[in-house]
Amino acid sequence: MSASGRLVIISGPSGAGKSTVVSRLLKECDLPLTHSISATTRPPRPGERDGVNYFFLDSAEFERRRQQGDFLECCEVFGAGYWYGTLKSQVTTGLNAGKWIILEIDVAGAEQVVRHFPSAITIFVNAADLSELEHRLRHRASESEAALQRRLQVAKAEIERSVNYQYRIVNHDVAQTVADICHLLHQHR
Ligand code: 5GP
Repeated sequence: MSASGRLVIISGPSGAGKSTVVSRLLKECDLPLTHSISATTRPPRPGERDGVNYFFLDSAEFERRRQQGDFLECCEVFGAGYWYGTLKSQVTTGLNAGKWIILEIDVAGAEQVVRHFPSAITIFVNAADLSELEHRLRHRASESEAALQRRLQVAKAEIERSVNYQYRIVNHDVAQTVADICHLLHQHR
């Protein structure tokens, strides 16, 4: 790892508001933060763009890149056959440029990254409780009922495994969460 670059892992159940927190951190926190763009086999949601939100790959291409060793970590996240992975190229380019790279990844992926980069800063962003998560997921209405139920099951399992994170933050208010994370990152400078 370069002298000044850092890895910042942000995990949390689907619906906890992680993506909003990350995009606001990138704009509002006065550290050289950047976001690693993951690859996924999940189809794009309306408004998502290839190379911006994710690199959207078909299963064959994802598998080819996996065999080639292109991923720092990769996982099948919701047991629905969709794979997600962090590209080594995203991480090394950022670290070499002295960036603080935010990896917005699931708990299993985070465990893999921490094995390679024990100095990664790990943050778990949660919603107040499961009913709040369900409410947010329903409001987003981007999944079928079955997929939503799967996300809730995975959320329960992820919350149980969140004890291994250095920081656990309940996202009651996005502005406050962003300020808290920025503040704690400053303590790692
Ligand atoms: P979504 O389908 O809602 O965009 O993302 C679903 C979940 O996949 C997120 O909660 C996020 O933590 C996880 N995820 C996104 N990118 C990656 C990745 O590169 N690796 C892993 N392990 N998980 C990811």
